[in-house]
Amino acid sequence: MDSAASRIIKAKQYAAERDTRIRVHNFDVELHGENATHFVNYKNGDWKCDCEEFLLRGVCSHIMAMEEILGDSVEPAMYPVAAQK
Ligand SMILES: [Zn+2]
Repeated sequence: MDSAASRIIKAKQYAAERDTRIRVHNFDVELHGENATHFVNYKNGDWKCDCEEFLLRGVCSHIMAMEEILGDSVEPAMYPVAAQK
């Protein structure tokens, strides 16, 4: 197998095994919400969002969406206990 072909196969394998192979450290994401655009930031397990819900409750749909997309490649957001009621 030539190196280009094996590179493509490895890339597909790594992507398919993302939950165990990929660990995200930092990212900034722009998310187009229903009413406004929001910015989600992730740094070494620490989540932030600029929306009002996050400021009030420490959880929001924007962060939850990114958790859904990235799966086990990121640390789960630590929601305050009060927010889960
Ligand atoms: Zn948000």
